[in-house]
Amino acid sequence: MSGLLRTEARPLVFAAGRETAFELSAGAPGFAPGAAHLVRFLPLERTLEPNDRGGAAYPSAEATADAQGALRLRYAFPSEGPYLLRIFRAEDPTTLLAEPTVYALDADLAALRPFRCDFHAHSDRSDGREPPAVLAARYRAAGFDAFALTDHGQRAPSVEAEAAVAATPSGLVVLRGEEVHPPDNHLHIVQVGGEPGCNLVFEREPARYATETAALRRAGCLQGLPEGIDPAEWASCLWCAREIARQGGISIFPHPYWRSDLLHAPLAVALHLLREGVFDAFEVLGGNEPDENHLQTALYHEVRAEGRPVNAVGSSDSHGAGPDARWFDWYSTFVLAPPAGPGAARPEAPTPEGIRDAVKRGLSVALETRPGEPPRAFGPLRLVRYAMFLLAEYLPAYRAACREEGLLLERLLGGDASAREPLARAAAETARFRDRIFEGGHASWSN
Ligand SMILES: [Zn+2]
Ligand SMILES: [Zn+2]
Repeated sequence: MSGLLRTEARPLVFAAGRETAFELSAGAPGFAPGAAHLVRFLPLERTLEPNDRGGAAYPSAEATADAQGALRLRYAFPSEGPYLLRIFRAEDPTTLLAEPTVYALDADLAALRPFRCDFHAHSDRSDGREPPAVLAARYRAAGFDAFALTDHGQRAPSVEAEAAVAATPSGLVVLRGEEVHPPDNHLHIVQVGGEPGCNLVFEREPARYATETAALRRAGCLQGLPEGIDPAEWASCLWCAREIARQGGISIFPHPYWRSDLLHAPLAVALHLLREGVFDAFEVLGGNEPDENHLQTALYHEVRAEGRPVNAVGSSDSHGAGPDARWFDWYSTFVLAPPAGPGAARPEAPTPEGIRDAVKRGLSVALETRPGEPPRAFGPLRLVRYAMFLLAEYLPAYRAACREEGLLLERLLGGDASAREPLARAAAETARFRDRIFEGGHASWSN
């Protein structure tokens, strides 16, 4: 609607079912200081009164704008979902002034925070463009809370990036990771978080890998395999999934529809991996091109329609993060995980363990944010509803809030020590921004 005031609600996201205090402020000319205003609360997903265009039949509250033109209200949003707040002058409840949207969450999700993550990226240590530390800074500048560097066949670059960022005041979390390339299996597997990684086992303990995959074959894991699946390859996939779990990591099945020559994963293999729930998550987005991702989302929905749980993530598989980069920042994941909390150096940031557990529990949504296109989210309906709200109302502002921090992080990691102090301030500012968005934030932030 045109002519409405641009309005900011803080918090923007809060718990449903109990009274919550929030503030509404508007851009110029703002709400008239000292004037009584009426706010109507319309649950977007319910139609109580289909013809009630102004929302007169809905619950409402009155507030007087303070000297800065801000309205302070209390209201108990009855159930989970998005709400339109229709704002009028109390004396003229037919002329709509503003209509911001807010989101209420049931208690389980209200205790968590959405963290934007990329679980699959390459640096110049394999076939990507930037050094690990530069890549990390670009992720922060693009509005990411966490990313896993998953270079081909090696985990060391991610350890390097993690150490580099951890020595700075930035709020970015670098996850250790690798793209796993078993010697006798052409499928790629992404692993995040596990120690010391699978590639190292292939290199240092080839006999263990050979013995254990042979044991898997003997154990009958390969009986009744659907046609079109190579038993040796299947044994290798099972071994990787089990080894990653043993090492404490997340296993992700990446890009089945990526076309190198033929499809990366034969359809029979992709279907069976998903039906059997071999890996912790499926890279629903990560095929790079829209047609590849389109088929991957169809695969995801097909297997879920059979009643099988599939945990969704979106990954860029980026090989560059410069201005002309493709894929970087186009595909990502919202992970709903607890923040580190009071007492932690970065209370509002995620922890690697929290991210891992959330992905394993299915608390993740794949995101598509290609430039010039409307954003989309893929996952279970409850999480997609919330993610679509966040993509519209939160992510653009959060991206802007992170930009300065990312640019300063790149300078500091590039050796410019004078960037440390401003980076500390920018990181604190980014944290405060998040704190104001989500009810019950951990406002204090130590550097
Ligand atoms: Zn790959
Ligand atoms: Zn890759």
